[in-house]
Parts: sequence; C-alpha cells; structure tokens
Amino acid sequence: MLDFTAIGEVLIDFAPSGEPDGKLPTFTGNPGGAPANAAAALARLGHPSALIACVGNDAFGALLRDTLRECGIDVSDVRVTDEANTTLAFVHLDEDGDRSFSFYRKPGADMMLTEDDLPADLIERSRILHFGSVTLTHEPARSATKAAVERARAAGATITFDPNVRLDLWTDEAAAREQIRWGLERADIVKVSEEEVLFLTGIAGVERGAAKLREQFAGRLLVVTLGERGCYYEAGGSSGYVRGYEVDVVNTTGAGDAFFGCLLHALLEYGLDSLPAETELRRALAFANAGGALVTTRPGALRAMPAAEEAAELMERAAPHDYTENFRP
Ligand code: ATP
Repeated sequence: MLDFTAIGEVLIDFAPSGEPDGKLPTFTGNPGGAPANAAAALARLGHPSALIACVGNDAFGALLRDTLRECGIDVSDVRVTDEANTTLAFVHLDEDGDRSFSFYRKPGADMMLTEDDLPADLIERSRILHFGSVTLTHEPARSATKAAVERARAAGATITFDPNVRLDLWTDEAAAREQIRWGLERADIVKVSEEEVLFLTGIAGVERGAAKLREQFAGRLLVVTLGERGCYYEAGGSSGYVRGYEVDVVNTTGAGDAFFGCLLHALLEYGLDSLPAETELRRALAFANAGGALVTTRPGALRAMPAAEEAAELMERAAPHDYTENFRP
C-alpha cells in the first residue's frame, strides 16, 4: 500500500545564480514541480510514494526520471511523451526577493497527461492523493487530474490540495478561481499561502481571509503558510498560529512542499481518518514549520527535502520555542 501519490507537474526550475554576465542572467537548473517535491518530501520521510506525471523524450526528462527514482519515488507512472518537451521554469527575483516565473512550454510535457495515463490500481492503492492547480490550467491534464481526484475520493483516499497559484499559466484569473474552487470543494486538507488567500477571497487579513475561504472548502484542515512567521490553521472549531523557526535562508523554493510533506508525515502517524487533538495538531504544524525552514537553508528543492530527525532536531534546538503557545504575528 502506498502512503502518498501525487499527480501533477515535474519540471526543471532554473533559479538565478551568481552575478549576471552584463545584462544576461545566469541560472542553475534544479529538478522541481510542487507535486514532485511533495512526493520527494514524503519519500524522504520514509513513506512509499509515487508520482503520476509526464516528461518529454529529451535529456531533461531522463534526468527528472532518474532524480525521482534516486529520491525513492515510484516512477512507473511518469510517462515519456514525444509530443512535447520537458517543461522548464525560469524563476526571476525582484529587488525584494519576490519571485515571478517564465514557463517554457507550448504546451510542455506536464500538460500532456491524459486520463489514459492513470494507472488502473495505483490511486486505489494510495492512502493520500495529492494535487495542485498547475495541471488544472490546460487540457488534457485538467481532465486527467480531475479524474484521479474523483477516483481516489471514491476509493476512500485522503485528498490533499496545494493550489500553488501560478497566474502566468492561466488564461484568465476567473478561470483560475473556478478551477481552484473545484479543488477546494473536494479536498480534505488544503495548504495555501497568504497571497493565495488574498487572490481567492479578495480579503487581506489572514484570519478573515481564511474564514472566507472556509466557505468554499468542506474539508477538515485548512493551513495558511506565512513564510518565516510560521503558519495559521483552521480545523473544525479550532484555529490558531504556530510560530516558525529562524534559519539562514539560501533559497525558499520548495518550502511549502517540505511543509506539506512534514505535516502529512505527522498526520499519517496519528491516523488519517480524523484529526488529532489540538496539541498534537499544533505539534504536527510545528514539525511542518521546521521542515519548511530546513529546505530554505539549502539550494534545490526536490533533492533537498529534510529527514524527520533533522526537523525534530531543529524543534529541539529552538526550545523553549513553544508550539503550544498561540501567538499573533
Ligand atoms: P512555495 O511556493 O515555495 O512552495 P509557499 O508560498 O507555499 O512556498 P511559504 O509560506 O513560503 O510557502 O513557506 C512554507 C513554510 O516554510 C512556512 O510556513 C514556514 O514554516 C517555512 N518557511 C518558509 N520560508 C521560511 C523562512 N524564510 N524561514 C523559516 N521558515 C520558512
């Protein structure tokens, strides 16, 4: 039985590196794509994990399949297509360190995923089915992703959703909101960033925004990640903030995926059928904050996921940092 199956994009992320050569920036390529990163996080934490995805029949596609395999992810359902090249994403940083993306695909291989690529039994064999919104942007990947979610739900899997909004990929914002709403309506556990709450609800404050988002989301746990400040959660009748950890940041790519991976690792230990009591839930979120923080201290994402001992050690080292204390950032 697999613990975790992700469906979605796997690609090469090119991050700016070194000094620009005159006006020309230099980039370093790293395997990435949020669903692939999340599968790597779970695999690193010792959970049997798989990815359903599509790469091009080119050197980047071969590199991605090799890297996923090295990370311990089952790649039997990572298809190689001749119809498109492996997707490349270039990350640009502005003066404040805010990121924007240029995606090189028309379309890229990640959008070539079809319903025929869904394995006959893989989804029914996995305790968690995880997806994002990038493969909801275009057909045929949109229908494939939706079919996987519906099948996994019918099979009783826990559905986890990280919208990971990349507006550059959508034809219009209304379509993005509509498709993400589809995901919110079907997921049990959702993680969004503060900016995504604002985009989806039009409300700037975390608490008011999350309350509004709850109206679209019927699942059991909604988490808003807040970068170095940590996170905010709403679960049934309870809500609160869990403080983040101070680290020396090198690169924040994949922090959200490491966070989600560590959170699911903790929840798998408590049992997925219902949420643990609030103290345990807050401990799980603190562990997720530690995992997210650790991935920012090294380059790359997919290959930089933290081990459970590292996250536990960071929590220990940060004592008397107290995850039971509800603070307001
Ligand atoms: P991404 O899009 O890169 O996957 P995200 O926007 O979903 O990330 P963030 O809020 O940036 O998510 O980060 C996720 C979690 O990682 C945070 O809630 C926090 O626990 C941890 N984290 C992120 N940045 C930092 C940082 N600079 N210092 C410490 N912890 C961090």
